[in-house]
Amino acid sequence: MAAQWWVGYWPSDPTSDRAWRRLRDQVVAEEPVCWLGFAGICTHVSTTADHVIPKTQRPDLAMTRANLRGCCGPCNLARGRTPVQRLSFAAGDPGDPGAFGSPDSAAGAAPSALAIFD
Ligand SMILES: [Zn+2]
Repeated sequence: MAAQWWVGYWPSDPTSDRAWRRLRDQVVAEEPVCWLGFAGICTHVSTTADHVIPKTQRPDLAMTRANLRGCCGPCNLARGRTPVQRLSFAAGDPGDPGAFGSPDSAAGAAPSALAIFD
């Protein structure tokens, strides 16, 4: 019989990993169009969730729906940890980071970068 070689391979916190995947799937379902749209690489199809404010800046917002946007893989990789204020399309109103404080008011407080696709 094959040994369960994969035991111990996955991240040590399967609960948070599962929670993240569920949240990511929700974001992809609700925002199927990539919010970054980097020219030349964007597939325009969300396959992952991008942190508007990078986890490195606000780890407390890592699992906050209002801080997530549907994003294609290439754009997510290309953005890396670029602060949202440095993203060219966000020059107008990058949003107030403080607005993400309450998950309950998240929907209304989220910056609407998707408007660029209108
Ligand atoms: Zn993209």
